[in-house]
Amino acid sequence: MVKVIVGTQFGDEGKGRIIELFSKSADVVARYQGGANAGHTLIIDGNTVVFHLVPCGIIYPNTMCVIGNGVVIDPEALINELTNLEKYGFKAGKRFFISNSAHIVMPYHKSKDDITGKIGTTHKGIGPCYEDKYGRRGIRMIELLYPEFFKEKLKTLVSSVDFQPMYEQYCKYGEILAPYIADTTALMNKWIQEKKEVLLEGAQGLLLDIDHGTYPYVTSSNPHSGGACTGLGISPTCIDEVIGVVKAYTSRVGEGPMPTTMAPDIEEAIRSRGKEYGATTGRPRRCGWLDIVLLKRVLMTNGIKKIVLTKLDTLDEMSKIKICTKYVPEANFALPELMYKTQPVYEELDGWQTPISDIRDYKKLPAATKKYVEKISELLNVEIVAICIGPQKDATIFL
Ligand code: GDP
Repeated sequence: MVKVIVGTQFGDEGKGRIIELFSKSADVVARYQGGANAGHTLIIDGNTVVFHLVPCGIIYPNTMCVIGNGVVIDPEALINELTNLEKYGFKAGKRFFISNSAHIVMPYHKSKDDITGKIGTTHKGIGPCYEDKYGRRGIRMIELLYPEFFKEKLKTLVSSVDFQPMYEQYCKYGEILAPYIADTTALMNKWIQEKKEVLLEGAQGLLLDIDHGTYPYVTSSNPHSGGACTGLGISPTCIDEVIGVVKAYTSRVGEGPMPTTMAPDIEEAIRSRGKEYGATTGRPRRCGWLDIVLLKRVLMTNGIKKIVLTKLDTLDEMSKIKICTKYVPEANFALPELMYKTQPVYEELDGWQTPISDIRDYKKLPAATKKYVEKISELLNVEIVAICIGPQKDATIFL
């Protein structure tokens, strides 16, 4: 079975814990796009462990972990992450694989990243690295295994002053990472043929997709479920299921349209309860009501038939909860200027105004919580497989 897990909004939906949850029964966990700008934070045995590039399947000792060709890799960040994971007892060993075709983030990518600050990137060089990929100037992991080719290419890309230290540094990274660099396309296809349980994890969110998100306020890759095929070299016919992670409200970091804005006092309450501050930058995220219009489009374009609903507990104190069911005038998703002008039309539901984080039985949830969950399922015409009602590992109820 091959499953893709994607964030359905603007990222920060709580994908990390869902991926961790599903990783438990997976033989293979693979990343297919993005770079060290993404991140999951997991609490493992009381330790906070941060994942940027390594799939969180690494915490299970028999799980194969893959970084696909669609990911851009900062070798320094990756080596630091592997070293850190080893400190907690998670060894990469012979079950960690990096695509030989994945592009490498270079120091000059970082210095060029989002100089105007408009897009709100994390300044990790991801965007400029993808620009070089599409400009056919990129350097790929395999080149680190062949320093003579790497040398000639790098000479054409950097000044003679920068060349030698950069060359030596990246050759060192290459030596450290060499045991993991592989033809991951061949491996993925072999495992799929062997009917392994395969989990493909998307980073960021579908509304940040370079093609299907709110361009230009988007990421540089395709979190889209189809990105899992191009980003790993597998066929669309291999994918059995796409599971969407939906946060019970909306949040967005950086600029770009988010029609379902809340009144400032409500927004502040949600931000503080949901700890909606950028993981890398600490910037406050904008928070809004759940947007069914955007979600319907995302579910349609990605083939999502099942969702996990996260952070319901963040709404615990609300007396009323709004859901946006349409826009007036109808939204034109392709132009942010038109998205900014559109007015959301809401349905209003009663809040539950009681803590739900300790409940583990769906039947025991307040009637208003169940009504909210069921309303979302009905409006989206989708199966909700689980709900998350707190940050604790076990605060998930399977439906
Ligand atoms: P990602 O960017 O989508 O991978 O998001 P993460 O997995 O890093 O989750 C973002 C934050 O949300 C983390 O601090 C989680 O602990 C927290 N979180 C996830 N699910 C829930 C939930 O159901 N309730 C609450 N209160 N926090 C949650």
